[in-house]
Amino acid sequence: MGAGQLTIDLEAIAANWAALDAMSGAGTETAAVIKADAYGLSAAKVGPRMVAAGVQSFFVATAGEGRALRPHVGDADIYVFSGHMEGDRTALESAGLIPLLNSPEQVTRHFSTLAGHPFGVQLDTGMNRLGMEAGDWHALSSELMSAGPRLVMSHLACADEPEHPMNATQLRNFREMTDGIAHRRSLAATGGTLLGPEYHFEMTRPGIGLYGGAPFTQATPVARLDLPVIQTRIVRPFETVGYGNTWQANVESCIATVAAGYADGLIRAMGPKAKLFAGDTPCPVAGRVSMDLITVDVTHLAEVPDHLTILGPLQGVDALADAAGTIGYEILTSLGTRYERQYR
Ligand SMILES: *Cc1c(COP(=O)(O)O)cnc(C)c1O
Repeated sequence: MGAGQLTIDLEAIAANWAALDAMSGAGTETAAVIKADAYGLSAAKVGPRMVAAGVQSFFVATAGEGRALRPHVGDADIYVFSGHMEGDRTALESAGLIPLLNSPEQVTRHFSTLAGHPFGVQLDTGMNRLGMEAGDWHALSSELMSAGPRLVMSHLACADEPEHPMNATQLRNFREMTDGIAHRRSLAATGGTLLGPEYHFEMTRPGIGLYGGAPFTQATPVARLDLPVIQTRIVRPFETVGYGNTWQANVESCIATVAAGYADGLIRAMGPKAKLFAGDTPCPVAGRVSMDLITVDVTHLAEVPDHLTILGPLQGVDALADAAGTIGYEILTSLGTRYERQYR
């Protein structure tokens, strides 16, 4: 088979959700963030498995994502982080999506074009990315509260660093803005869920932890990626491999060329720090990662297998991300469409 094989373990995703759900105590619902096509792993596959696991609320980035998700999650709630943008009305209405209103402008748009349609409110508690500012919130909160938001939420900027003082600052801001309201609240994504119960409120909304990434370091791995070896060759001392001649043989070497490259999310920056595995044996990348191909030094192997593993038990998404100077989120969402995908 000419394409890399991407194996996605839906049971592991369900187990990770259950583990995060167990951390959120009674009285706290555990939702699932499934934006960017479930972090690149397919919302159409992950959604139904999450519903079967007991998820009642999903979060997506845009109304378009919500509309695409609707057929896969029955009548579960679907919240939209970007809120109610111009032109969203039909998608919000036809797919029964819940926009998280982010600004006075969005409040006006929602109440004038979709009065009576469910909504939530996203507050800015310090990240300065999305959400209503405290001043606007205070001016609008009685109007918003009487219309009955389904959820009032905010997002933490530094939750993957438990000791960061920003966490307590944002918690205090969120409480100051919302204590005493009669509506459900949510502050924690994966990192916030791990910070402990004071961050949980009525709902947690993990994303990356479901898909096996940090900061949920105890997560069950979800993705495995095996790349077929197209060709192997002997390279003599002083010969070079790949673009720019950046790798040169010191001794007679065996180079395997595998079928995947930066167009498949195996970004060029990972270069020589990334390893591919022949079973348990690590093999270094030799030279530059190309668009569709990676060359690998397999000189030390007694036998070259028909595929090498780049994501698996010995090198997970976070280890691969480290090699590339990025985060697991970016590795997963960059995987692309050329792999043969197998779900189990
Ligand atoms: C992406 C996102 C999440 C999920 O974050 P993870 O770190 O993947 O758990 C939750 N809330 C908001 C507002 C987000 O943008």
